Amino acid sequence: MEPSRSCSCGCGKVRFELSAPVTIAGYCHCTRCQKRTGTAAAASARLEGELRFLSGEELLSAWRPDRGSEKWFCSACGSHVFSRNPRNHALLAIRMSAFDGDPGVRPSFRQFVNYAASWEPIPDDGLERHGEARPR
Ligand SMILES: [Zn+2]
Ligand SMILES: [Zn+2]
Repeated sequence: MEPSRSCSCGCGKVRFELSAPVTIAGYCHCTRCQKRTGTAAAASARLEGELRFLSGEELLSAWRPDRGSEKWFCSACGSHVFSRNPRNHALLAIRMSAFDGDPGVRPSFRQFVNYAASWEPIPDDGLERHGEARPR
């Protein structure tokens, strides 16, 4: 089966396609992801490419912290959809939950484990671990 390149938010108003399949996926344990998701870690997949919007682009909002990636979400339902490098918009990370089908990759690393939630142990799953960001 072809990997899915079709993505949407929870309410379905934001829809977009990826110009290329994602190449790698991982869990992020940073405190920003914890705050934004309400969970201990968030799964995203990376690609170098672009997004083609099918609908709802006007509903997107972003959190642009002083350092780190722009965090884009649907302002109607709050779903995270993607983040991107502010200096190079082709460097994208797509939330795994945004895919409408199977993205074709499985998480292979955990990053920002130095900031992991105190209330949930990091799973002993053999995935490579990075204390800070995993280099791209
Ligand atoms: Zn939405
Ligand atoms: Zn994170």
